[in-house]
Amino acid sequence: MQQKIVLKLLPSEAANDAIIKKHIAAAAGKKVASVSGYNISRQSIDARGQKVHINLHINAFIDEPFVVTPSIDFKFKNVSNASKRVLIVGAGPAGLFAALKLIEAGIQPIIIERGKDVRARRRDLAILNKEGIVNPESNYCFGEGGAGTYSDGKLYTRSNKRGDINRILQLFIHFGAPENIGYDAHPHIGTNKLPHIITAMRQSIIDCGGQVLFETKLTDLHIEKDNITHINAASGEKIKADAYILATGHSARDIFNLLYHKNILIEAKPFALGVRIEHPQSLIDSIQYHCMVRDEFLPPASYSLVQQVNEKGVFSFCMCPGGIIAPAATNPGELVVNGWSPSKRNNPFANSGMVVQVEMEDVIKNSSLKIQHSPLAMMAFQQAVEQKAFNAGGGNFVAPAQRVVDFVNNKISPSLPDNSYLPGLNSADLRTVLPPFIHQALAGALKAIGKKLKGYYTNDAILVATESRTSSPVRIPRDSETLNHPQSKNLYPCAEGAGYAGGIVSAAMDGERVASVIAKKLIS
Ligand SMILES: Cc1cc2nc3c(=O)[nH]c(=O)nc-3n(C[C@H](O)[C@H](O)[C@H](O)COP(=O)(O)OP(=O)(O)OC[C@H]3O[C@@H](n4cnc5c(N)ncnc54)[C@H](O)[C@@H]3O)c2cc1C
Repeated sequence: MQQKIVLKLLPSEAANDAIIKKHIAAAAGKKVASVSGYNISRQSIDARGQKVHINLHINAFIDEPFVVTPSIDFKFKNVSNASKRVLIVGAGPAGLFAALKLIEAGIQPIIIERGKDVRARRRDLAILNKEGIVNPESNYCFGEGGAGTYSDGKLYTRSNKRGDINRILQLFIHFGAPENIGYDAHPHIGTNKLPHIITAMRQSIIDCGGQVLFETKLTDLHIEKDNITHINAASGEKIKADAYILATGHSARDIFNLLYHKNILIEAKPFALGVRIEHPQSLIDSIQYHCMVRDEFLPPASYSLVQQVNEKGVFSFCMCPGGIIAPAATNPGELVVNGWSPSKRNNPFANSGMVVQVEMEDVIKNSSLKIQHSPLAMMAFQQAVEQKAFNAGGGNFVAPAQRVVDFVNNKISPSLPDNSYLPGLNSADLRTVLPPFIHQALAGALKAIGKKLKGYYTNDAILVATESRTSSPVRIPRDSETLNHPQSKNLYPCAEGAGYAGGIVSAAMDGERVASVIAKKLIS
């Protein structure tokens, strides 16, 4: 017999197979010997009470042989000689998952990616961190695997109506991700493991007859009678396909400029901007787990915060327990920060974006930036703040920073604590970087959050500017059913850069969705 059982265990118990079987037997009213095995379908941490528990949703096998839950059997076809081919611009999660979906449908994908493969890309990240020099084609946002490759690899999404989350997680597992991402309530992979998984995906695409072309940047596209006829790459190459997926991510400003100057419809889109906040991880552990020292069986604690200040939404974004603040700019002279963590999340710091929702009226009202209403207005606003941050840091991607209480009290911090940001920090007044409405909203939120999370509002924590690439500042419109752009029947704006996803899993799901629609159209 199989029985579904929910267990609430102490962290040490949840890590012990024999104890789990004992609890299953007790819950089922059987002897331990009757329990042949179990599959976990969901695991979550319940830290609401004084004692932290692990909730396990289990399918137990009692008095019958144990069978591991079968994984999805993905059927990738040989598409070397396929009659239809689709050009995918961008090898981020959207591009890679779109390619795999097309292969399943018997269509040949050709991915062009401006950046380098994961291994070569790592060298450019080392130069950026050590020497403060950014390669505009190969950085934390551009290159194989997209913006998600050197990230925390958090795979949690609320977008469960946009696609099959389980299928995306199972595909990650198929290409080498740990199996627990299939049942963890907040799964993550880690920067050290992601590149291997991305490499395996690329190899599979190539083995099936797809193509992946690195250092191949889309520079122009040509539309005739509602259809793209071909695209041009920077190398001078001209590429033709039956359909074109534009999955270039939120940082491809040249793509937004290209579309704008070719009179291809784009729209300004609200996004969020602020800072990255970093605390000692031990402090976050003690706040979240109500303890002096974290139980060795618990993972480094995380948080997710929302605060309303004068009708402005302020929220934490992409929290990285045991993580590192990364220089995520794509151009010289602009400072952007983001965060990543290794799979063990074992660095001594906890960082998170802390950002304020930015609407078009905020940008227009902010007269000091002299920005007019245009599809590129939000992008220009974003870029202007990033440039101010670069200047306030003093160059070479040294970032301006302030202790939290000093920030709220408008005081330059006389010193900064140890931190994870490798290019270095410069103590600065962040009012010189952030527009007043953002500064005020952040200050109000930090004080209010400090009242709810005792210890969070402290000068042991720092704010580093600027967290600005939270989502795309531009939307590329598409039909809600056919998913093509209104001016071209074979151009498919996709995922985060086009404004239809935010995060690795939702981008992957949008890639799959677009690929499915194209496959249906090309094969019918
Ligand atoms: C440091 C960091 C940490 C992050 N951590 C997480 C996390 O833990 N969890 C999470 O869910 N999300 C995280 N994100 C966000 C996540 O990476 C993105 O939401 C996701 O990658 C978006 O996928 P995408 O495929 O739409 O675009 P992208 O991943 O941005 O991929 C777009 C690709 O297009 C390429 N490209 C751009 N222009 C051109 C052109 N002209 N020609 C050819 N190629 C082009 C780019 O080089 C890039 O590789 C993180 C991002 C960063 C930067």
